Amino acid sequence: MEKVAIDDLDNWMGPADVKRPVGKALGTEHMGIRFYELEPGESTAFGYHAHADQEEVFYVLDGTLSFETEDGDVEVGEGEVIYFEPGELQQSRNAGDGRARVLGLGAPTDGGDLTLLRECEDCGERTDQEIERSDDGEALLTVCVECGSETGRFS
Ligand SMILES: [Zn+2]
Repeated sequence: MEKVAIDDLDNWMGPADVKRPVGKALGTEHMGIRFYELEPGESTAFGYHAHADQEEVFYVLDGTLSFETEDGDVEVGEGEVIYFEPGELQQSRNAGDGRARVLGLGAPTDGGDLTLLRECEDCGERTDQEIERSDDGEALLTVCVECGSETGRFS
C-alpha cells in the first residue's frame, strides 16, 4: 500500500503549468499516472502524438479539454473520460477560460515508440519532432527532425 498527496509531489517541466508524477510516487509498475493543471491554451502533451504500445486515458476533473484526434476535434468536459488506443494520434488543449485539472493514465508505463508531430515554420508543415533538454537544463525543447529548428520551449 502506498499513499501520496498530489500537492506534495514534484512539478515536472513541460507544456502543462503543473504535471505531477503520481504513478512514480506511488511506485506503480505497469501504469503511468500523471496529474495536470493547464492554463487556457495549454496541453498535456508536447504535440500531436501517439505511443505505439500504450493505452491512454484522460479524466477531466475541472474545466474542458479539446482533443485533436484522428476523428476530428472532441471536447471532453468535467466528469468525462476519453480513451486512446495504442498508436492513435491525439493532442489535448485547455479550451476553457479557466484552469483545467486532468488525471492522465497510461499503460504499460513504457509506451514504446513515440510519434510526435508539430508545426515547423521553417519546413512550412507539421513534421516529426524530438524532445531535448536545453543546454542550461532549464527547459525542454521540441526540435524538428527534418531541419533541426526549435519549434517549442517548455520550462
Ligand atoms: Zn523543420
